[in-house]
Amino acid sequence: MQANVGRPTQIEFVVSRTLRRLHLRFRRRTRPVASLRCTPDFVLRTQRACVFIDGCFWHGCPKHFTLPKANAEWWAEKIEANRERDRRQGRELAERSWAVVRIWEHEVDLRSETLTPPALRRVEAVAGRSPGARGPRASASGS
Ligand SMILES: [Zn+2]
Repeated sequence: MQANVGRPTQIEFVVSRTLRRLHLRFRRRTRPVASLRCTPDFVLRTQRACVFIDGCFWHGCPKHFTLPKANAEWWAEKIEANRERDRRQGRELAERSWAVVRIWEHEVDLRSETLTPPALRRVEAVAGRSPGARGPRASASGS
């Protein structure tokens, strides 16, 4: 684990840079829904979207996850519990009309400070969301 110290912040830096470049405003680690115990890495209230960065190990990346040889059973349960929590949070947010974008750690290129094209497309897809457009201002013109 020691080797990974520092890397998550670099990854978050690249993602936040990408969001800014797309003119997306976000808040860090705040609950999008007060009643849900869920704090995504980035919360985009205007777009009603959450962005999670998933570590390849902790979230069981299909490409990179390998079970440690020591305590394999314990790790398998631990990672599966993480994955189950990810799925549950995704469901709970979707039920409340929140879009969820998950970015794998391996989709962030630290050298070029960019996301891979598929990850970028997922972020761009929510950039166009504007659930707030039909707000009080639109209905006020009626009277
Ligand atoms: Zn991966």
